[in-house]
Amino acid sequence: MDSVSFPYDAPVSQTLFDRASLVTPGGVNSPVRAFRAVGGTPRFMVSGTGPYLTDADGREYVDLVCSWGPMILGHSHPEVTAAVQDAVSRGTSFGTPGEGEVALAEEIVARVAPVEQVRLVSSGTEATMSAIRLARGFTGRAKVIKFAGCYHGHVDALLAAAGSGVATFGLPDTPGVTGAQAGDTIVLPYNDLESVHAAFHAHPGEIACVITEASPGNMGVVPPLPGFNQGLKDACAKNGALFISDEVMTGFRTSRAGWYGIDSVTPDLMTFGKVMGGGFPAAAFGGRADVMGHLAPAGPVYQAGTLSGNPVATAAGLAQLRLLDDAAYEKVDAASARIRGLVTDALAKEGVAHRLQTASNMFSVFFTDREVRDYEDAKKQEAFRFNAFFHSMLSQGVYLPPSAFESWFVSTAHDDAAIERIAAALPAAARAAAEATA
Ligand code: PLP
Repeated sequence: MDSVSFPYDAPVSQTLFDRASLVTPGGVNSPVRAFRAVGGTPRFMVSGTGPYLTDADGREYVDLVCSWGPMILGHSHPEVTAAVQDAVSRGTSFGTPGEGEVALAEEIVARVAPVEQVRLVSSGTEATMSAIRLARGFTGRAKVIKFAGCYHGHVDALLAAAGSGVATFGLPDTPGVTGAQAGDTIVLPYNDLESVHAAFHAHPGEIACVITEASPGNMGVVPPLPGFNQGLKDACAKNGALFISDEVMTGFRTSRAGWYGIDSVTPDLMTFGKVMGGGFPAAAFGGRADVMGHLAPAGPVYQAGTLSGNPVATAAGLAQLRLLDDAAYEKVDAASARIRGLVTDALAKEGVAHRLQTASNMFSVFFTDREVRDYEDAKKQEAFRFNAFFHSMLSQGVYLPPSAFESWFVSTAHDDAAIERIAAALPAAARAAAEATA
């Protein structure tokens, strides 16, 4: 961080951050927003239109975070906004069933073949937490396999750090998670099928499920090696465990049917969030009807939510999904490819060692010359170069994820004008990355 300069300040954001820090821990409601990894003042945004965000100081940025994935049509899309306004005008929460929930569930089931039934919730965390509970209830087993570097929300049992070696039991990653809560979590290295086989061998009849990000984006973008997801599915099937594919990030983003639409590996359960909420708190988990049938009130596994299937959130999500046709995905993919090309060219020109890793239109830049296949590889990158790169881009009006370990997100709204702004900012940012020192 020492070598990073903050090319300009943001006095109004700084004042808001000071106020926020008095009444909210760390000044933010989700840690990555605080800019702790990159330093400097987090920008408080006041509005978003298309590919742009405007901060409280009146500066405009090309947004390559897109609210961490949801805003795949850009900000304030007129049709999504109209659907929300229409829903709000009819009331904002009834605590009863409503047609919007049915329509959103039907849309998900129609897009993603392995999902026969789906339950709506309000966050990705709730979706993965509930899917794990259901897998345990269905199988009558306790243990869960997850992979180091995969994030599934702040579910107690899944906030377990990697230990080295095969079948290392998770140690809690954070105070507040007890050994008991994390003790049934087995954390394995990503992309390593051998360790999965060894864990099943070591714990016969004990493993309820394997949960993985369909294509991880939470250690930067680290796609599954060919055959990895199928290998997980096969290992689960052979050992009577359920395979849970977490598509909270990739779902309805990487294709019409998310990552499933790309690798066709059929999970038993899937989780969704982000894009399906259209910028509102809506998420879901779903899958095999015989498994989902174990959920209350159809079955004994309890799960509920006051705002689950909220009419405004479902209206936003449905409007967004209905606009996401093949042409929309082609647009996002094309914008992503252009931006990736520009980033690589700029960094190569300055001789900066880097790898651009891609999963459909999701991508991230690792400051290393080696392929990144797991979390250990990801941590070996020269993250200090990212920090210099980030601040240079920010000062030139391009808003990147404020961490070297996050995916960048693009939308249908990233048009020529937005991409030209990115192109114009890249040479100086690449120079800053080249000149950065640890
Ligand atoms: N699963 C994955 C793959 C995610 O990327 C996230 C959030 O980034 C979550 C689960 C948790 O979702 P939420 O933040 O909505 O609780």
